[in-house]
Amino acid sequence: MFTKEYALSLLNTGSTEVEALYRRADEVRKHACGEDVFLRGIIEFSNICAADCTYCGIRASNREVERFKIPSDEIVETALAAKSAGITTVVLQAGESQAVSDQELGQIIRRIKEESGLAITLSVGNRSEQTYRYWQACGMDRYLLRFETSDAELFGRVHGSCSLDERLECLRSLRRLGVQTGSGFLIGLPGERLEILADNIMLCRELDLDMIGIGPFIPHPHTPLGSFPNAYADQPEMFFKALAVLRIFNPTAHIPATTAFDAVFPDKGRDLLLQRGANVFMPNITPAKYRSMYLLYPNKPGLVESECECLQCAAHLVKRLGRPIGKGPGHTLKRR
Ligand code: SF4
Repeated sequence: MFTKEYALSLLNTGSTEVEALYRRADEVRKHACGEDVFLRGIIEFSNICAADCTYCGIRASNREVERFKIPSDEIVETALAAKSAGITTVVLQAGESQAVSDQELGQIIRRIKEESGLAITLSVGNRSEQTYRYWQACGMDRYLLRFETSDAELFGRVHGSCSLDERLECLRSLRRLGVQTGSGFLIGLPGERLEILADNIMLCRELDLDMIGIGPFIPHPHTPLGSFPNAYADQPEMFFKALAVLRIFNPTAHIPATTAFDAVFPDKGRDLLLQRGANVFMPNITPAKYRSMYLLYPNKPGLVESECECLQCAAHLVKRLGRPIGKGPGHTLKRR
Protein backbone atom coordinates (compact mmCIF):
# COMPACT_ATOMS: atom_id res chain seq x y z
CA MET A 1 0.00 0.00 0.00
CA PHE A 2 2.78 2.47 0.92
CA THR A 3 4.24 2.71 -2.55
CA LYS A 4 5.66 5.65 -4.41
CA GLU A 5 2.68 5.51 -6.78
CA TYR A 6 0.34 5.81 -3.82
CA ALA A 7 2.33 8.77 -2.44
CA LEU A 8 2.11 10.42 -5.85
CA SER A 9 -1.62 9.86 -6.09
CA LEU A 10 -2.09 11.49 -2.66
CA LEU A 11 0.15 14.42 -3.59
CA ASN A 12 -2.05 14.87 -6.66
CA THR A 13 -5.19 15.17 -4.53
CA GLY A 14 -7.40 17.84 -6.07
CA SER A 15 -8.81 20.85 -4.29
CA THR A 16 -12.19 19.22 -3.68
CA GLU A 17 -10.66 16.30 -1.76
CA VAL A 18 -7.76 18.03 -0.06
CA GLU A 19 -9.61 18.65 3.21
CA ALA A 20 -10.34 14.91 3.42
CA LEU A 21 -6.59 14.24 2.99
CA TYR A 22 -5.83 16.62 5.87
CA ARG A 23 -8.50 15.03 8.07
CA ARG A 24 -7.03 11.61 7.38
CA ALA A 25 -3.50 12.77 8.26
CA ASP A 26 -4.85 14.27 11.48
CA GLU A 27 -6.61 11.00 12.32
CA VAL A 28 -3.40 9.02 11.70
CA ARG A 29 -1.52 11.42 13.98
CA LYS A 30 -4.17 11.13 16.68
CA HIS A 31 -4.22 7.33 16.53
CA ALA A 32 -0.42 6.81 16.41
CA CYS A 33 0.89 9.72 18.51
CA GLY A 34 -2.06 10.83 20.63
CA GLU A 35 -3.18 14.39 21.25
CA ASP A 36 -0.05 15.65 23.00
CA VAL A 37 1.98 18.38 21.33
CA PHE A 38 5.60 18.22 22.44
CA LEU A 39 7.58 21.44 22.76
CA ARG A 40 11.28 21.39 21.86
CA GLY A 41 13.18 24.59 22.57
CA ILE A 42 15.73 25.41 19.87
CA ILE A 43 18.96 27.19 20.77
CA GLU A 44 20.76 28.37 17.62
CA PHE A 45 24.15 28.64 19.23
CA SER A 46 26.40 29.57 16.28
CA ASN A 47 25.88 30.77 12.71
CA ILE A 48 29.44 29.95 11.67
CA CYS A 49 29.33 27.39 8.88
CA ALA A 50 32.04 25.92 6.68
CA ALA A 51 29.52 24.58 4.17
CA ASP A 52 28.17 26.54 1.26
CA CYS A 53 24.65 25.29 0.53
CA THR A 54 23.42 27.38 -2.34
CA TYR A 55 20.17 28.55 -0.71
CA CYS A 56 21.23 29.15 2.89
CA GLY A 57 21.67 32.62 4.37
CA ILE A 58 24.50 31.60 6.70
CA ARG A 59 26.55 29.75 4.06
CA ALA A 60 30.28 30.31 4.32
CA SER A 61 30.42 32.54 1.22
CA ASN A 62 27.84 35.04 2.47
CA ARG A 63 30.13 37.83 3.67
CA GLU A 64 27.21 40.02 4.73
CA VAL A 65 26.48 37.91 7.76
CA GLU A 66 27.72 38.97 11.17
CA ARG A 67 28.98 35.74 12.69
CA PHE A 68 28.46 34.72 16.31
CA LYS A 69 28.90 31.86 18.70
CA ILE A 70 27.16 31.89 22.05
CA PRO A 71 29.53 31.31 24.98
CA SER A 72 29.17 27.90 26.65
CA ASP A 73 27.91 29.32 29.94
CA GLU A 74 25.17 31.25 28.17
CA ILE A 75 24.05 28.15 26.23
CA VAL A 76 23.80 26.17 29.46
CA GLU A 77 21.99 29.03 31.24
CA THR A 78 19.50 29.26 28.35
CA ALA A 79 18.80 25.54 28.60
CA LEU A 80 18.32 25.73 32.37
CA ALA A 81 15.93 28.68 31.98
CA ALA A 82 13.96 26.66 29.42
CA LYS A 83 13.70 23.79 31.88
CA SER A 84 12.32 26.20 34.52
CA ALA A 85 9.74 27.36 31.99
CA GLY A 86 8.54 23.78 31.44
CA ILE A 87 10.52 22.72 28.37
CA THR A 88 11.62 19.06 28.41
CA THR A 89 13.85 18.97 25.31
CA VAL A 90 16.45 21.39 24.03
CA VAL A 91 17.68 21.30 20.45
CA LEU A 92 21.22 22.65 20.02
CA GLN A 93 21.56 23.78 16.44
CA ALA A 94 24.44 25.45 14.58
CA GLY A 95 26.19 25.65 11.25
CA GLU A 96 28.53 22.82 10.29
CA SER A 97 31.93 23.90 11.61
CA GLN A 98 34.48 23.50 14.35
CA ALA A 99 33.81 27.04 15.65
CA VAL A 100 32.57 25.17 18.71
CA SER A 101 34.85 22.14 18.90
CA ASP A 102 33.50 18.62 19.35
CA GLN A 103 34.99 18.57 22.86
CA GLU A 104 33.53 21.96 23.80
CA LEU A 105 30.12 20.84 22.57
CA GLY A 106 30.52 17.57 24.48
CA GLN A 107 31.12 19.53 27.67
CA ILE A 108 28.05 21.69 27.03
CA ILE A 109 25.92 18.56 26.54
CA ARG A 110 27.34 17.03 29.72
CA ARG A 111 26.62 20.13 31.78
CA ILE A 112 23.05 20.49 30.50
CA LYS A 113 22.37 16.82 31.14
CA GLU A 114 23.85 16.83 34.63
CA GLU A 115 22.29 20.11 35.70
CA SER A 116 18.84 19.68 34.17
CA GLY A 117 18.20 16.12 32.97
CA LEU A 118 16.68 17.64 29.81
CA ALA A 119 16.47 15.53 26.69
CA ILE A 120 19.12 16.87 24.29
CA THR A 121 18.93 16.95 20.53
CA LEU A 122 21.88 18.04 18.43
CA SER A 123 21.80 19.39 14.89
CA VAL A 124 25.25 20.38 13.67
CA GLY A 125 25.70 18.52 10.39
CA ASN A 126 27.79 15.64 9.10
CA ARG A 127 30.23 14.20 11.65
CA SER A 128 32.11 10.94 12.13
CA GLU A 129 30.53 8.00 13.94
CA GLN A 130 33.24 8.43 16.57
CA THR A 131 32.11 12.00 17.27
CA TYR A 132 28.46 10.97 17.45
CA ARG A 133 29.45 8.23 19.90
CA TYR A 134 31.34 10.73 22.04
CA TRP A 135 28.39 13.12 22.18
CA GLN A 136 26.06 10.23 22.95
CA ALA A 137 28.32 9.33 25.91
CA CYS A 138 28.09 12.96 27.05
CA GLY A 139 24.29 12.77 27.13
CA MET A 140 23.01 13.45 23.61
CA ASP A 141 19.69 11.67 23.06
CA ARG A 142 18.78 12.63 19.51
CA TYR A 143 20.26 14.01 16.33
CA LEU A 144 18.69 15.91 13.45
CA LEU A 145 20.30 15.81 10.02
CA ARG A 146 18.11 16.52 7.02
CA PHE A 147 18.95 14.79 3.77
CA GLU A 148 17.17 17.74 2.05
CA THR A 149 16.50 15.83 -1.18
CA SER A 150 16.62 12.15 -2.12
CA ASP A 151 17.77 13.01 -5.64
CA ALA A 152 21.57 12.59 -5.70
CA GLU A 153 22.06 14.93 -8.65
CA LEU A 154 19.93 17.69 -7.14
CA PHE A 155 21.66 17.19 -3.79
CA GLY A 156 25.04 17.64 -5.48
CA ARG A 157 23.90 20.87 -7.10
CA VAL A 158 22.87 22.52 -3.83
CA HIS A 159 25.39 21.01 -1.36
CA GLY A 160 28.94 21.41 -2.53
CA SER A 161 30.56 20.00 0.58
CA CYS A 162 29.22 16.44 0.68
CA SER A 163 27.32 13.87 -1.32
CA LEU A 164 23.91 12.39 -0.59
CA ASP A 165 25.60 9.05 0.14
CA GLU A 166 27.80 10.67 2.78
CA ARG A 167 24.79 12.31 4.38
CA LEU A 168 22.90 9.00 4.42
CA GLU A 169 25.92 7.24 5.90
CA CYS A 170 25.85 9.74 8.80
CA LEU A 171 22.20 8.85 9.39
CA ARG A 172 23.08 5.15 9.34
CA SER A 173 25.89 5.77 11.88
CA LEU A 174 23.44 7.46 14.21
CA ARG A 175 21.00 4.61 13.85
CA ARG A 176 23.74 2.03 14.55
CA LEU A 177 24.57 3.86 17.76
CA GLY A 178 20.95 3.84 18.88
CA VAL A 179 20.64 7.63 18.80
CA GLN A 180 17.08 8.78 18.09
CA THR A 181 17.47 9.97 14.54
CA GLY A 182 15.69 12.73 12.69
CA SER A 183 15.93 13.80 9.09
CA GLY A 184 13.77 15.42 6.46
CA PHE A 185 13.78 17.51 3.34
CA LEU A 186 13.07 20.80 1.65
CA ILE A 187 9.88 21.04 -0.38
CA GLY A 188 10.30 22.62 -3.78
CA LEU A 189 14.02 22.98 -4.49
CA PRO A 190 14.41 24.42 -8.00
CA GLY A 191 14.40 21.43 -10.33
CA GLU A 192 12.35 19.26 -7.99
CA ARG A 193 9.56 17.31 -9.65
CA LEU A 194 6.61 15.69 -7.92
CA GLU A 195 8.36 12.34 -8.45
CA ILE A 196 11.26 13.54 -6.30
CA LEU A 197 8.91 14.80 -3.61
CA ALA A 198 7.31 11.34 -3.51
CA ASP A 199 10.81 9.78 -3.34
CA ASN A 200 11.65 12.08 -0.42
CA ILE A 201 8.62 10.78 1.47
CA MET A 202 9.54 7.19 0.57
CA LEU A 203 13.11 7.71 1.81
CA CYS A 204 11.85 8.98 5.17
CA ARG A 205 9.79 5.81 5.47
CA GLU A 206 12.71 3.57 4.44
CA LEU A 207 14.99 5.20 7.00
CA ASP A 208 12.37 4.49 9.68
CA LEU A 209 13.05 7.88 11.24
CA ASP A 210 12.17 8.82 14.79
CA MET A 211 11.64 12.44 13.80
CA ILE A 212 10.99 14.06 10.42
CA GLY A 213 11.25 17.79 9.76
CA ILE A 214 10.29 19.29 6.42
CA GLY A 215 9.90 22.85 5.24
CA PRO A 216 9.34 24.82 2.05
CA PHE A 217 12.43 25.90 0.10
CA ILE A 218 12.83 29.64 0.76
CA PRO A 219 16.07 30.94 -0.72
CA HIS A 220 17.98 33.68 1.00
CA PRO A 221 18.53 36.63 -1.39
CA HIS A 222 22.30 36.69 -0.81
CA THR A 223 22.78 33.19 -2.20
CA PRO A 224 23.17 31.66 -5.68
CA LEU A 225 19.57 30.38 -5.58
CA GLY A 226 18.31 33.72 -4.27
CA SER A 227 16.20 34.52 -7.31
CA PHE A 228 14.93 31.02 -7.98
CA PRO A 229 11.28 30.43 -7.15
CA ASN A 230 10.06 27.44 -5.20
CA ALA A 231 9.13 24.60 -7.57
CA TYR A 232 5.56 24.81 -6.19
CA ALA A 233 5.34 28.60 -6.07
CA ASP A 234 2.11 28.47 -8.04
CA GLN A 235 0.60 25.71 -5.86
CA PRO A 236 1.61 26.40 -2.22
CA GLU A 237 -1.03 23.93 -1.04
CA MET A 238 1.57 21.33 -2.02
CA PHE A 239 3.55 22.20 1.12
CA PHE A 240 0.67 21.07 3.31
CA LYS A 241 -0.11 18.07 1.14
CA ALA A 242 3.51 16.95 1.50
CA LEU A 243 3.23 17.05 5.27
CA ALA A 244 -0.10 15.22 5.29
CA VAL A 245 1.23 12.43 3.04
CA LEU A 246 4.40 12.27 5.13
CA ARG A 247 2.28 11.64 8.22
CA ILE A 248 0.18 8.96 6.51
CA PHE A 249 3.37 7.19 5.43
CA ASN A 250 5.12 7.63 8.81
CA PRO A 251 2.45 7.25 11.49
CA THR A 252 4.69 7.08 14.57
CA ALA A 253 7.39 9.62 13.66
CA HIS A 254 7.52 12.87 15.58
CA ILE A 255 6.80 15.55 12.99
CA PRO A 256 7.30 19.21 13.93
CA ALA A 257 5.32 22.15 12.66
CA THR A 258 8.38 23.98 11.34
CA THR A 259 8.88 27.74 11.48
CA ALA A 260 9.46 28.06 7.72
CA PHE A 261 5.75 27.38 7.14
CA ASP A 262 4.94 30.54 9.09
CA ALA A 263 7.27 32.47 6.78
CA VAL A 264 5.14 31.37 3.80
CA PHE A 265 1.77 31.46 5.57
CA PRO A 266 2.17 34.19 8.22
CA ASP A 267 0.54 33.52 11.58
CA LYS A 268 -1.19 30.34 10.48
CA GLY A 269 1.33 27.97 8.86
CA ARG A 270 2.35 26.09 12.00
CA ASP A 271 -1.17 26.26 13.36
CA LEU A 272 -2.50 24.48 10.26
CA LEU A 273 0.32 21.92 10.31
CA LEU A 274 -0.67 20.83 13.81
CA GLN A 275 -4.12 20.10 12.38
CA ARG A 276 -2.76 18.28 9.34
CA GLY A 277 -0.37 15.74 10.81
CA ALA A 278 2.28 17.49 12.94
CA ASN A 279 2.64 16.75 16.67
CA VAL A 280 5.68 18.79 17.72
CA PHE A 281 6.28 22.53 18.08
CA MET A 282 9.76 24.01 18.32
CA PRO A 283 9.80 27.48 19.89
CA ASN A 284 12.99 29.42 19.32
CA ILE A 285 14.60 30.04 22.71
CA THR A 286 17.86 31.46 21.36
CA PRO A 287 18.67 34.64 23.34
CA ALA A 288 16.97 37.41 21.35
CA LYS A 289 20.17 39.39 20.69
CA TYR A 290 21.50 36.61 18.41
CA ARG A 291 18.33 35.77 16.50
CA SER A 292 18.62 38.18 13.59
CA MET A 293 22.08 36.76 12.78
CA TYR A 294 20.71 33.25 12.25
CA LEU A 295 18.77 33.87 9.08
CA LEU A 296 18.76 30.70 6.98
CA TYR A 297 15.99 32.30 4.89
CA PRO A 298 14.35 35.75 4.76
CA ASN A 299 11.25 36.79 6.72
CA LYS A 300 11.98 34.27 9.45
CA PRO A 301 9.33 34.71 12.15
CA GLY A 302 10.05 35.26 15.84
CA LEU A 303 13.14 37.44 15.56
CA VAL A 304 12.14 40.00 18.14
CA GLU A 305 10.23 38.09 20.81
CA SER A 306 12.05 37.19 24.00
CA GLU A 307 12.68 33.52 24.80
CA CYS A 308 9.82 33.70 27.29
CA GLU A 309 7.42 35.24 24.75
CA CYS A 310 8.24 32.51 22.23
CA LEU A 311 7.41 29.86 24.81
CA GLN A 312 4.20 31.59 25.84
CA CYS A 313 3.21 31.98 22.21
CA ALA A 314 3.78 28.23 21.62
CA ALA A 315 1.82 27.25 24.72
CA HIS A 316 -1.01 29.59 23.72
CA LEU A 317 -1.20 28.14 20.21
CA VAL A 318 -1.33 24.56 21.49
CA LYS A 319 -4.04 25.39 24.02
CA ARG A 320 -6.07 27.23 21.41
CA LEU A 321 -6.15 24.03 19.37
CA GLY A 322 -7.52 22.22 22.42
CA ARG A 323 -4.50 19.94 22.62
CA PRO A 324 -2.41 19.24 25.73
CA ILE A 325 1.30 20.04 25.92
CA GLY A 326 3.23 16.77 26.13
CA LYS A 327 4.74 15.97 29.49
CA GLY A 328 8.04 14.15 29.86
CA PRO A 329 10.83 14.12 27.31
CA GLY A 330 8.71 13.00 24.34
CA HIS A 331 11.18 10.36 23.22
CA THR A 332 10.67 8.28 20.10
CA LEU A 333 7.39 6.47 19.64
CA LYS A 334 9.06 3.70 17.66
CA ARG A 335 9.26 0.23 19.17
CA ARG A 336 12.38 -1.48 17.87
S1 SF4 B 1 22.11 24.60 5.32
FE1 SF4 B 1 23.32 24.07 7.16
S2 SF4 B 1 25.24 23.20 6.36
FE2 SF4 B 1 24.27 24.30 4.65
S3 SF4 B 1 25.20 26.35 4.70
FE3 SF4 B 1 23.28 26.44 5.92
S4 SF4 B 1 23.89 26.04 8.03
FE4 SF4 B 1 25.59 25.42 6.70
